[in-house]
Amino acid sequence: MVNIDDYRKITGDETVDGLLIIAGKLEGRMIQHINSTAVGGGVAEILTRMVPLLKQLNVNTRWDVIKGDEKFFAITKAFHNALHGVREEFRKDDFEYFLEVNRTNAEEISFDGDMVFVHDPQPVALIEKKISSGSRWAWRCHIDFTNPQEDVIRFLENYINMYDSSVFSAPAFARKLSIPQILISPSIDPLSDKNKELSDEIISNIAEKFGLDRSRPIVSQISRFDYLKDPLGVIEVYRKVKKYNDCQLVLAGGGATDDPEGMKVLNEVYASANGDPDIHVIFLPPSSDIEINVLQRISNVVLQKSLKEGFGLTVAEALWKEKPVIAGAVGGIPLQIKHQYSGILSYTIDGTAFYLKQLLNEPVFAKELGINGKNHIKNNFLITRHIRDYLLLFLSLLDKDMKFLNE
Ligand code: UDP
Repeated sequence: MVNIDDYRKITGDETVDGLLIIAGKLEGRMIQHINSTAVGGGVAEILTRMVPLLKQLNVNTRWDVIKGDEKFFAITKAFHNALHGVREEFRKDDFEYFLEVNRTNAEEISFDGDMVFVHDPQPVALIEKKISSGSRWAWRCHIDFTNPQEDVIRFLENYINMYDSSVFSAPAFARKLSIPQILISPSIDPLSDKNKELSDEIISNIAEKFGLDRSRPIVSQISRFDYLKDPLGVIEVYRKVKKYNDCQLVLAGGGATDDPEGMKVLNEVYASANGDPDIHVIFLPPSSDIEINVLQRISNVVLQKSLKEGFGLTVAEALWKEKPVIAGAVGGIPLQIKHQYSGILSYTIDGTAFYLKQLLNEPVFAKELGINGKNHIKNNFLITRHIRDYLLLFLSLLDKDMKFLNE
């Protein structure tokens, strides 16, 4: 069980004292988060850590997860892809079914929050339930909105515009909306099982369990098996590099309950790996936080070759561990990586392969990127900063005296 005071040694007293002061102003208020999965993916990752910490700060908080069947999550995954610019076809019936499931959930969830925080498109239409009770609703978008498919965004905007406020992860995602838009980037928790320091013994045992040889370079990508994370592109990168540099590739990840595409992508990855003993495709069950922590720590280089990305928590996680990261220059990733300073931004398979060779051959440069990366994450993307931003948003929406912030 983490204690809010444990963060003092990482962030300093000022940060934690500041949180306690702001949280005190929310006394008697209830904050309600709603999303579409309890496990898998970045949103669940953040809420799992943030909800107990908010409670520790005495902020009355609850977290509800909407329910949906296979058809609903197939539609919302297609929405997700379309919002990321992948062409998808929808029938009128798809939009109607989406609304039907949202309305069924709206009947089952009790909306007790003074502040209702709805995450991502899946539950966006719950806003229909907003009543004139004085509760405030914010829509929190975690996805890359730079090039969304028109019909989907137009449909969703009908609902987004009914909220009191919207929150995006990066300036590039801002849209023309009739409601205020606020920039709050996501964060990682330095004290979670996924990010905390580990003993050499744990690290060695888990590396051995996965059959990884620590005397040879390890390159990894940890992600849900999703086309937009480009695991097949990562295998191509590895093959190009392997001609010149000995290395092992780790592609590790699991699924998310709201992502039905995972198995299909995983099978394509297995096929493409084609039995290469140096390609370790590891399907991770939920609660593999220590395993992910170890895989990131034993990597010489971490890749995140995303084609689209909301923020890319995996990048922050690897940088926090002082790893040199090569990542796609998409979505929220450039907020985390300044090219050739706190990591490497890449655009293509050839570019990624070029830099991977360089980092494997130049460990001093690679180490420098990792050190700068960790500092950047420490200064900007830890959960304490994220909680402060959320609390200030809650206050600005709930407190009439701070009305200027809503205008
Ligand atoms: N993750 C996990 N298990 C997996 C794959 C990913 O716990 O099998 C975690 C990963 O460590 C990160 C989050 O899920 O904390 C993924 O967030 P990110 O923003 O990188 O991508 P998303 O999945 O939300 O697109």
